Amino acid sequence: MKITRATSRAWRLPLQRKLMSSSISMTHRELVLVQIETSTGLTGTGWCTTAGVGGGSIKALIDGYLLPSLAGEDPRANERIWKRLWGECHAAGAAGITTLALATIDIALWDIKGKAAGEPLHRLLGGARDAIDVYASAINLHLDRAALLAQVEGHLAEGYSAFKLKVGRADPAEDLDRVRAVRAMIGSGRTLMLDANQKWAVGEAVQRTRALAETAPLFIEEPLLSDDVGGHRQLRLSGGIPVALGEQVCNRYEFWNYIREGAADYVQPDVGKVGGITEWIKIAALAEAANVALSPHGAIELSAQLACAVPNALHVENIFGLGL
Ligand code: MG
Repeated sequence: MKITRATSRAWRLPLQRKLMSSSISMTHRELVLVQIETSTGLTGTGWCTTAGVGGGSIKALIDGYLLPSLAGEDPRANERIWKRLWGECHAAGAAGITTLALATIDIALWDIKGKAAGEPLHRLLGGARDAIDVYASAINLHLDRAALLAQVEGHLAEGYSAFKLKVGRADPAEDLDRVRAVRAMIGSGRTLMLDANQKWAVGEAVQRTRALAETAPLFIEEPLLSDDVGGHRQLRLSGGIPVALGEQVCNRYEFWNYIREGAADYVQPDVGKVGGITEWIKIAALAEAANVALSPHGAIELSAQLACAVPNALHVENIFGLGL
């Protein structure tokens, strides 16, 4: 089987309303999509998304370099293709736009492999289970207390038993009040998770997480800048809540830095950010070796398959409120 043609398309989509986390305000989402055609007639589709920045650069790298170099390759050789392309792009950046662009190709290759095998991805990649829990995740820091509680109440009514909400308001007391109210609504038997979107420095994060610990969250997600490995380790050892991160961590080496340093209780690889399925599976294995649980970030259409493939995934997240 040979790759005969590969094309890309990209969209920049305005949101119905601006979304706020503690660190960014988001007005657009971008989708970059690659289609690969083969000599057998099988085709594969892969994609990545952005929070509104970088889509044009990702498409330029795909069109200008990556796709022209695929002609004649065997699409089943995902390891060879990933290693070659990542190596060739390394000097321009080992993570970020490079891995987002690589993901579109890698996911398309796995689409072809799945179609060729006649198997769903989760079975092709390991088949650890056939179903996985889904939690309700929302971009809701901009909601006032009443609207936040109404949102959680709606997700409760839909049957969710695990919830993630944003923290990082300027006033710590306000954060605590909002989280206490959600905990009171969902009760002690359901799972609560918090996401600070890289808001704090380590000293503040220690204080904040000690205060929020009374609400018994499963984890605090991205409490610090995602580049601060030592800070996460310090927080993990001295804060009050287990630490999760990974949605901005872009390849196995960057994840290994966290895992090796004992700086995370949960890792959250995003299949688009890390360069696709080939790399995601390796990150899952690194985490398994360190007895660190996987809480995949976003991309539920693919993350559900990947989480079912491996033994150490807890759940997948369904993100509400993106408002496309
Ligand atoms: Mg997050």
